[in-house]
Amino acid sequence: MQVTDKKIVIIDFVMKDDEGTIIEAFNEGNFGYLHGANNILPGLERALTGKSKGDQISVTLSPEEAYGEIDTQQIQQVPRSMFPQDQAIAEGMQFHAQTPEGQPIIVTVVNVEDEHIVIDGNHPLAGITIHCDATVVDVREPTELELNHGHYHEAGSCNN
Ligand SMILES: [Zn+2]
Repeated sequence: MQVTDKKIVIIDFVMKDDEGTIIEAFNEGNFGYLHGANNILPGLERALTGKSKGDQISVTLSPEEAYGEIDTQQIQQVPRSMFPQDQAIAEGMQFHAQTPEGQPIIVTVVNVEDEHIVIDGNHPLAGITIHCDATVVDVREPTELELNHGHYHEAGSCNN
């Protein structure tokens, strides 16, 4: 069976940055996704299209094909008063926030000053070129529930 839209695909993969540091890895046949449903990075999905069980791929994804370029407009100075007064704010802390359009994002504190805090709303992996090696472990038809939910169910159960 080939990897096409609306197939459940199980892959083992390792993602590394330019320095060879592992960003994410799955190697026990426990990562699955629904092909063509935006479950995984588009560049990776494209490389897997048409492959079969046992096939291996190796792709390099530019930031644009992965988590996006760094958008300097996402780096902002905000008043200290926007954060809870009783909480110590330190560089590297992450907070859940929303874009003006209401999309949930994670912002990272990059600098703390007396009156202001500089936050970065870019994805933590923005601007990074990703090297991915993947092996197709299995390709199967989705269950009706998986198709309805638009994602893979490990061992038949929904974790979302
Ligand atoms: Zn589900």
